[in-house]
Order: sequence, then C-alpha cells, then structure tokens
Amino acid sequence: MLTIQKWSLNPFSENTYGIADDEGNAVIIDPGMYNAEEGSAVWEWLQKFGSNSQAIWLTHAHLDHVFGCDYLFQKARLVPLCHPKDEITMEMAARAAQMYQLNFTSPPKVAYTLAEKEVLQIGKHEASVLFVPGHAPGHVAFYFEKEQCLFSGDVLFQGSVGRTDLPGGDEQVLKESIESLYKSLPKDVEVFSGHGDETTIGSEMKSNPFVNEFNSGLFQSKSKG
Ligand SMILES: [Zn+2]
Ligand SMILES: [Zn+2]
Repeated sequence: MLTIQKWSLNPFSENTYGIADDEGNAVIIDPGMYNAEEGSAVWEWLQKFGSNSQAIWLTHAHLDHVFGCDYLFQKARLVPLCHPKDEITMEMAARAAQMYQLNFTSPPKVAYTLAEKEVLQIGKHEASVLFVPGHAPGHVAFYFEKEQCLFSGDVLFQGSVGRTDLPGGDEQVLKESIESLYKSLPKDVEVFSGHGDETTIGSEMKSNPFVNEFNSGLFQSKSKG
C-alpha cells in the first residue's frame, strides 16, 4: 500500500506530496517548503515513513515547486529528478524569487534525466512519467496505474488548468497535453494537483470549463464512432 501525504506550502499554496510504501521507501514530489517550520514538517514525515528516502520528483521547476529542494539536499542528499526541457525553468526560478522578493537557494544538483514513459519506482510500486508540456516546457505528470492516481503538477486542477502566460508556456500545447490525459487514463483515476483539492479525470472531463470532452474534440471523435 502507498501512503500519500499532502502539505500545502509557501506563499503560493503549492501542494507538496510525500509518497511512501510499507517498507520505508519514499519520494517527495515538488518540495515547496519555504521556511523552517515547513521544512521540519516534511523532514519529520520522511524520517517516520521514508527511512530509505530515494529521491525528489519534480513535475516542473517553477519556483513554488522547488523552494525546498536545497533543504532536502542538505538534510539527506536527495537530488531532484527533472525533465531536461525544464532546465531553463529551474534557471529562471532564482530570477522569479528576486522578482517576488522571496528567499531561494538553487539546489546544488539536479538530475535532468526524466524521460517520457520512463517507469519510476517506490519499492515495488511503479509510476510512469507522462510528458505534459504547455504550462512549463518540461512538465511531466506521475501516473501510478495500479493505484489509479496521477500527480498532475500544474497541468490540471479541480475546475481549472495551469496558466500559460509564464515563459515557456503555450496554451495550445497545454490543451493537447490535457486531452492526452483524458484519452489515455481511466475516468476514475484520482488527480493530485499542484494547487487546490483532489479531483478525478472523469469529473474534469465532465465539468472543467477550460478543457472538457465537449470542447476538446473528444466528443466529436467519439460521435464518429
Ligand atoms: Zn507551475
Ligand atoms: Zn505551482
């Protein structure tokens, strides 16, 4: 069984997730810890559930999703894994921090190794890497097929989608990414987003005002049989 822990952190209310199996294997997705208190909360959880903590998985490298990378590197030498196309986004994080006048230390090491359809593991549990650009150029989502859950970062939210006005964003590409999720994933897959509450693929297909099956072309292709 997988344990999923969610923290809503930093000035952007970003969702950081801890995922652990029963044997102390754990990963942190998008560590957004901004201050000492937020850092301690995640660190305490990791010590309890993730004695064999393996890695940090990044859906993308926007500032709000990487605030805590350096902290976890200093604490446990955890190195974030990121898609190579988001190296530029990570480089921009420091500038974004300056702009917002927020403290940020870039992680000393990032492994730009994530590849589309790669299978990652937490002990015996497997997640595939889905390449879903549009909000950021190297954005990925992590899909646990057996557990029927998706960590979607800032691609798909409950009732909303990721913004596309930041550098590297592209509205049409984002729409295609979301359509690819709708087409390839079962409707009852639970979606854990980078901001806000959980949802499912099916409920977003039905009622998401930005991309749903009726305005995305899926309805049209279905009606053709
Ligand atoms: Zn983002
Ligand atoms: Zn975000």
